Amino acid sequence: MMTINEGRAMSSPVVRSRKVPKRNSMRLAAALLAAVASFVAGPSAGLAAAPQRHDQVPGFYRLKVGDLEVTALFDGTGAFDPHWLNGTRATIDGVVNALHEDPHMLDVADTSFLVNTGKQLILVDAGAGTWWGGGAFGRLAGSLRSAGYTPEEVDIVLVTHLHSDHVGGLTTQDGKRVFPNADVYVAKPESDFWLSPEIAGKAPKDAQPFFQSAQAIAAPYIKAGKWHTFGGSEPIVDGLQLVPLPGHTPGHTGYEFSSKGQKILFWGDIVHALRVQLQHPEVTAIFDIDQTAAAATRLQLLPKLAREGVLVAGPHMNFPAVGRLRKEGSGYSWAPVVFTDRWDEK
Ligand SMILES: [Zn+2]
Ligand SMILES: [Zn+2]
Repeated sequence: MMTINEGRAMSSPVVRSRKVPKRNSMRLAAALLAAVASFVAGPSAGLAAAPQRHDQVPGFYRLKVGDLEVTALFDGTGAFDPHWLNGTRATIDGVVNALHEDPHMLDVADTSFLVNTGKQLILVDAGAGTWWGGGAFGRLAGSLRSAGYTPEEVDIVLVTHLHSDHVGGLTTQDGKRVFPNADVYVAKPESDFWLSPEIAGKAPKDAQPFFQSAQAIAAPYIKAGKWHTFGGSEPIVDGLQLVPLPGHTPGHTGYEFSSKGQKILFWGDIVHALRVQLQHPEVTAIFDIDQTAAAATRLQLLPKLAREGVLVAGPHMNFPAVGRLRKEGSGYSWAPVVFTDRWDEK
């Protein structure tokens, strides 16, 4: 593709080598430019500048875990505020300074995951919908359709916790169930905490929206008899293990699926800011209701996952939000799955 500037660069040496007077050379250059311009604008459409294309690929990514088909479903992106992190003064000052040079350091995504076991279609978390992020999120249902499924086909929703960026996609603002045939499962301490009018009544003002959204999102499922709580390790789905991950919220739960010797852990909000909390697992988020327990859970979990090479699905990691942890220095690094356009049978 030729541009006007390239035309000028090409014509100049020719003009100079003939040693024509400067004014003439200018005139000649102008004539050449006009010729080039008419050539570009002429019938040879192949040389026209291609308009930029701003559309993107659909927001899903599939991978195989044993016999399971796991599909990451994109819901949206945002940025984590450095003031939402709690750590030593030195660590947090370091993050704030690093952000000047590296403004995308705290970019986060929101992703949910679909597991097709061959018998059931299971959604793990449901994105933010319209309940968080002022319109930046809420693409989950579109991503699900792009991936070839409909909301009506989802049998089960497993919820890691009741923050609105993980359950907002369950319910519309006018109180309709987005997944009308799904049974929703959540840990009993989680459900009891967020749905309690007494606890909500005593909670600080800043926390009120979290209680209000959790109650509004759960309401139509409760009414339909589709809201279920679990207290321990009761079986919900074959090959599923419930992994209590306390601290972030009272009933924060991971879901580990195993099939044919392969495992994937859906870890909820174990990490919000991957470029801070993997190097500094002791750094917590202000949304962690029990800060000490949240840090302890992460410090206990990360070494085990790195050692065993467990596949991790983390809603706030970079899309497709699936990868493995590697030990790196005193912390960990994230080894994301590598994009392929094939269904990888390995
Ligand atoms: Zn959360
Ligand atoms: Zn979250």
